[in-house]
Amino acid sequence: MVSCGDMNPFDAELQRRLEALREQGLRRELRRVDSPAATRITIGGRTHLNFSSNDYLGLANHPALKEAAIRAVEQFGAGAGASRLISGSLAPFHELEETLAAFKGTEAALTFSTGYAAALGTLTALVGKEDILILDKLVHACIVDGARLCGATLRIYRHNDLNDLEEKLKWATKNRPQATSRILIVTESLFSMDGDAAPLRDLVALKERYGAWLMVDEAHATGLYGPRRRGLADTLGVSRGIEIQMGTLGKALGASGGYICGSRALVDLLINQARSFIFSTAPVPAAAAAATAAIHLVQSDTGRELQERLWARVAEFSAAAHRPSPAPPSMILPIVYGDETRALQAADTLREQHLYVTAIRYPSVARGAARLRVTLTAAHTTDDVANLVAALNLLAP
Ligand SMILES: *Cc1c(COP(=O)(O)O)cnc(C)c1O
Repeated sequence: MVSCGDMNPFDAELQRRLEALREQGLRRELRRVDSPAATRITIGGRTHLNFSSNDYLGLANHPALKEAAIRAVEQFGAGAGASRLISGSLAPFHELEETLAAFKGTEAALTFSTGYAAALGTLTALVGKEDILILDKLVHACIVDGARLCGATLRIYRHNDLNDLEEKLKWATKNRPQATSRILIVTESLFSMDGDAAPLRDLVALKERYGAWLMVDEAHATGLYGPRRRGLADTLGVSRGIEIQMGTLGKALGASGGYICGSRALVDLLINQARSFIFSTAPVPAAAAAATAAIHLVQSDTGRELQERLWARVAEFSAAAHRPSPAPPSMILPIVYGDETRALQAADTLREQHLYVTAIRYPSVARGAARLRVTLTAAHTTDDVANLVAALNLLAP
């Protein structure tokens, strides 16, 4: 134990910063879980009902994924040994990318160690100082970070506001640094912290009118929407109007990794210029094998049953909590408190009842927009949802 008195100046400075975070209700901490990440998790020896996972279909613990991962370990080992460009590219990554491209209906796909790495590598490979990036106000931090890193001129449009986007497009058209400057719009399809959907059809029409490129992050939609569960772009029939389709293998697909789907030229360019792909050891082959199994599963009758179960739980929640059911349906159900400390207190109260719901605060959302982010999964039961709603009803508003 080091008391504050004998702390060295470095640690004393960091302690001051941590204390400042705590005072603002923004300090974060890890809670150790001694069980698989599922609807029931063990924390401090007690079982909690988990309503904060992005494992929306409950695939992270599905036997098909676990078996695929174990087989890949046995056949290809625990680690990949190097970047895919250095010592050869293991077969499970190629199988995954072929499966992904077929799933998304694109010419090609490329996978990264995470969705975060996919966003950073892709944005910095595609646009630079001479280009203009236009982002929805609520896009994920990985897109914001990629935007900063690539050095393009940045414009933000109000969340899902097509009029504001058009203003920014007009500005960009007039203010291109060079005739060859590109304009790239980036949005999510289903937004991660609000659970609302982007108007993708109108977005595609607008970007075509202005000759801009469009990148859509389907991190929270892939595996969940449409007759083949390809995501929202496919459901709305606009995939072909999107140059860059991005997502993660770590949420509804239950595995780990990020992907970009699009043309062969896009993928070839990223293999050559996406630094987060080039200068990073390939993921473990087991993660790729699990993701491949997940994509097959999602497209099967089992996938359809899980999808139906998820939307049934969402409908039960909406009815019991007297919340409107949005279209498209969403398993991300925010309860906005605003004040950070109040959101934290609500989460603490629920945890005392062994209900695990995370308080989401700045910088995951804007300051003063703190919320409980309830997520439902296909692995929850009707009783689980009823228990949650009963506890939420007793919380101070
Ligand atoms: C989680 C998330 C990512 C990052 O994906 P990881 O595979 O977790 O790194 C990207 N975009 C959005 C919208 C996300 O919610």
